[in-house]
Amino acid sequence: DALGPTVCVGEILVEIVATTVGDGFLEAQPLVGPFASGAPAIFISQCGRLGGKAAMVGAVGDDDFGRVNTDRLKRDGVDVSAISIDADYPTGSAFVRYRADGSRDFVYNIATSAAARFGWSQTVGDLIDRSGHLHVMGSALSVPSAREVIEKAVDIVRARGGTLSVDPNIRRELKLDEDTERRFSKLVAAADLLLPTGEELERAAGVEGEAEAIRRLFEMGVKEIVLKRGVNGATYFGRQGDRIDAPAFVVQEVDPTGAGDCFGGAYLTCRRLGMSQKQALTYASAAGARNVMVLGPMEGAGTRQELDAFIASTERRR
Ligand code: ATP
Repeated sequence: DALGPTVCVGEILVEIVATTVGDGFLEAQPLVGPFASGAPAIFISQCGRLGGKAAMVGAVGDDDFGRVNTDRLKRDGVDVSAISIDADYPTGSAFVRYRADGSRDFVYNIATSAAARFGWSQTVGDLIDRSGHLHVMGSALSVPSAREVIEKAVDIVRARGGTLSVDPNIRRELKLDEDTERRFSKLVAAADLLLPTGEELERAAGVEGEAEAIRRLFEMGVKEIVLKRGVNGATYFGRQGDRIDAPAFVVQEVDPTGAGDCFGGAYLTCRRLGMSQKQALTYASAAGARNVMVLGPMEGAGTRQELDAFIASTERRR
């Protein structure tokens, strides 16, 4: 943490959630929201709540949806100085409704919202120049403005001795053009910490099979891998062949959105605060589990005290 804050770059959204289960939005229905959201924002919120130095780069509109986000992140202790306020475009949004089988219907306004309209600026540069860690979502590489900021920031943060974590959240089916694919591989290879799910692990490595994918990623240059397996827990893999399995906590799932981002934010923050992989895994598993107990993508993100209480009072799966 001494080198400076953890910075996350990417989309800031509000999420509005249907309160009934069913198919889509073709008729009038009860909704609840706005909730602060956007995977990078969820990640950085969890970092801040856990007491790590944290800062966010992105954009919101000059509207209440934007203020929901900036007020929330400020309360979490996140530096919001590099969140720009777009005078012309509204804050990004996602309407979501869960179907009976657990899949989701979305109506997004991201690409044509403030969320996708930010770039390098003096303020962003000043923040990156004093940052110690950068966290990147793979999906951001397909947004040109975010890509420019991320690639510049990676070079600056690493040059000053900082570190990089990557959540390669790109679906298996998603075909990237050759140039973006190359940039994605370069980013993955530079990661000090990679935080994939099983499918993303194979996608990032470009090979099938967990063991083979892990081997390939270390070969590419990745330093540390933490694999997220939902209710089946998580596993840390080290370059020396070491591994630690962490079972998930037993909770009642209300809203699965944001589990992976809270998990990642907690793991990274604990590591930067000097904790062992094992202890970081415990906090991360608690952060992911606690977040799914509450409606809203980051409403269940816990403070250190809340996570300690959760860990002490909650059973783990066998
Ligand atoms: P999302 O995309 O929904 O944010 P993800 O797919 O990136 O999440 P998951 O593996 O679903 O990541 O969740 C990350 C971690 O959070 C898991 O490894 C687990 O420790 C914890 N977790 C997630 N869901 C649950 C659950 N229902 N019960 C207990 N723990 C959970």
